Amino acid sequence: MIMDKENYEKILQSLKPGVRLVAVSKYKPLSDIRTVYDWGQRVFGENKAQEMRAKHPELPSDIEWHFIGHLQSNKIKYIAPFVTLIHSIDSFALLQEVDKVASRFQRVVPCLLQFHIAREETKFGFLRDEAERMLDSSSFADLKHVRVDGVMGMATFTDDVAQVRSEFAGLHEEFDYLKARYFSGKDHFKEISMGMSEDYRIAMDEGSTMVRIGSSIFGPRDYSLKLDDLVPAGQ
Ligand SMILES: *Cc1c(COP(=O)(O)O)cnc(C)c1O
Repeated sequence: MIMDKENYEKILQSLKPGVRLVAVSKYKPLSDIRTVYDWGQRVFGENKAQEMRAKHPELPSDIEWHFIGHLQSNKIKYIAPFVTLIHSIDSFALLQEVDKVASRFQRVVPCLLQFHIAREETKFGFLRDEAERMLDSSSFADLKHVRVDGVMGMATFTDDVAQVRSEFAGLHEEFDYLKARYFSGKDHFKEISMGMSEDYRIAMDEGSTMVRIGSSIFGPRDYSLKLDDLVPAGQ
């Protein structure tokens, strides 16, 4: 299975009503993204700021670019002018930096709070205490150039379906808790970004509103590729 339109359409058909598909195009060349664009996909996800910055001007302007990776403060400026949604806000400091950079571009950047739901230490994200301290603070209320639209999380990489399911259920609970306590009446706080190629069906059962699917659409990734291979200079 490599880049097959029927397969893409099967994935679309498998989505529950209201669930949006983010096609994760990291490590994929422009030509592959154009192919999936031509199939009708408009929302693409990238996890490196330089890669997203390089791809953006080469591709149609009606693409919605979602950032899904760990974001370093000094690279926010690469994506702030055009990013549609940052899924991966994993600290208050990062959210404050995004606010600062977005203000320079006179934008309000929609963001999701990434929660640490997996049992793996390698994954980033908030725990509830830390999120509450942020949301209770006056410096959070001062932010004018970011808008928090929901939560995101990644389950543990495991075959244990029950564990994955309970981690996704936990993220849904975080969402409900934050909605009731901090965002009731705020219609924009509505997204639960969870689910990847191997676990998106479980995520949808547990209330996902956005699934981030890469390899099932684009085929396996070649991590040896460099940015110059993906976006040839001077193209
Ligand atoms: C790479 C990535 C995905 C997509 O993973 P697949 O298993 O290829 O579907 C989803 N979310 C995040 C945060 C990723 O980094």
